[in-house]
Amino acid sequence: MEIKPFENKIWLAAPTMHGDEMRYVKEAYDTNWMSTVGVNINEVEKIAAEKAEMKYAVGLSCCTAALHLAVKHAGETLFGRPIVSHGALAGKRVFCSDMTFDATINPVVYEGGIPVFIDTEAGSWNMDPVALEKAFEIYPDVKLVVSAELYGFPGRMDLIKEICEKHGALLVEDAAEAMGATINGKQCGSFGDYSAISYNGNKIITGSSGGCLLTNDIEVANKARKWATQARENAPWYQHEEVGYNYRMSNVIAGIVRGQYSYLEEHIARKKAIYERYKEGFKSLPVQMNPIMNGTEPNYWLSAMVIDEDAMCKQVRSDCEALYISEPGKTCPTEILETLAKYNAEGRPIWKPMHAQPLYRLHGFVTCEGDGRAKTNAYIKDGTLSKAGKTLDIGMDIFHRGLCLPSDIAMTPAQQDSVIEIVKHCFD
Ligand SMILES: *Cc1c(COP(=O)(O)O)cnc(C)c1O
Repeated sequence: MEIKPFENKIWLAAPTMHGDEMRYVKEAYDTNWMSTVGVNINEVEKIAAEKAEMKYAVGLSCCTAALHLAVKHAGETLFGRPIVSHGALAGKRVFCSDMTFDATINPVVYEGGIPVFIDTEAGSWNMDPVALEKAFEIYPDVKLVVSAELYGFPGRMDLIKEICEKHGALLVEDAAEAMGATINGKQCGSFGDYSAISYNGNKIITGSSGGCLLTNDIEVANKARKWATQARENAPWYQHEEVGYNYRMSNVIAGIVRGQYSYLEEHIARKKAIYERYKEGFKSLPVQMNPIMNGTEPNYWLSAMVIDEDAMCKQVRSDCEALYISEPGKTCPTEILETLAKYNAEGRPIWKPMHAQPLYRLHGFVTCEGDGRAKTNAYIKDGTLSKAGKTLDIGMDIFHRGLCLPSDIAMTPAQQDSVIEIVKHCFD
């Protein structure tokens, strides 16, 4: 093999700009709406709600802010308005996705909640509905669930919503990675009582930053707007009855987001082509790509893969370091990531499960056993995972054997073919 390192770095997922974005940014500048109000924000809110099939969207500084306002509102709805400094979820357990980015969980903690993590379904890499049912048996008092879609490949958010309804719990859907993906034809971001989407720089479309809270409830939208602007009351002076935040979206950033929205479908199509090229290229390797659940259409944001158990060389990870022993015919995520880096291509480990984070090591973690495990094993038979769950939980198993591949839209087919070759040679 004669592959030279890439001259320009192949990114995991960089922003893809088209030019139209600047028109709206310039409009904001020329009309002097350089603030957190303006036409761009109004338009983004309109488009975001329409695309996600929700009635209202509230433009915010980021998705984390949207999640914060969502869990705060859920907490006050469920448990009443708290003493100001205590948080709306003070001392309450909240069921949370285990395999997700930490931004899903942080807002629960901002409000004093205690995350309890729900294990991952091997067949979807998302929250396992069977484990969630079991969690409600163990903790019948829980009234809030925060669930995220991973890498733009949705799981059974529809089932999770049903389970929440059955137990009188509210659902916050973190669709930050899944904008434009669908479950049975229904948009991700439309399943939660509250949903959040992100325009962070690496997401499927971007404003450099920004996010929206989505809801069908006008009261939620109004409350979020008020809290996001320092919770000022309707009075001639600054009048305050509640704690507020500075969470509003900038009209300049909204201009970029507004320009990007018309390219959402194109971005999804290009990400899908990347996923399928990997799938085809790795046909002969002992690996599986992210699973696609029946009835779902992913947005293919990040292509990822897991290495079959018997093709794994020895790999150990401490809290902040990884080591492996190279073996002919075998490899591991660390070796592949280091090799990609040598060629100037960026991959990334799978998001490390939350229950394994030092911050949450003492928190509850509900896995599937007995009947639940049997059901999970049915998926394993489909070839998604081998021997999963025997010694590790599903999330840690995917973390151990999996990695995210360079998924940048700007990567050319020829460059991707080189990435595929590089990965293949790790198995030599
Ligand atoms: C990116 C991301 C977020 C945070 O989005 P920001 O807009 O950067 O706050 C939240 N949840 C998940 C799952 C994400 O991937």
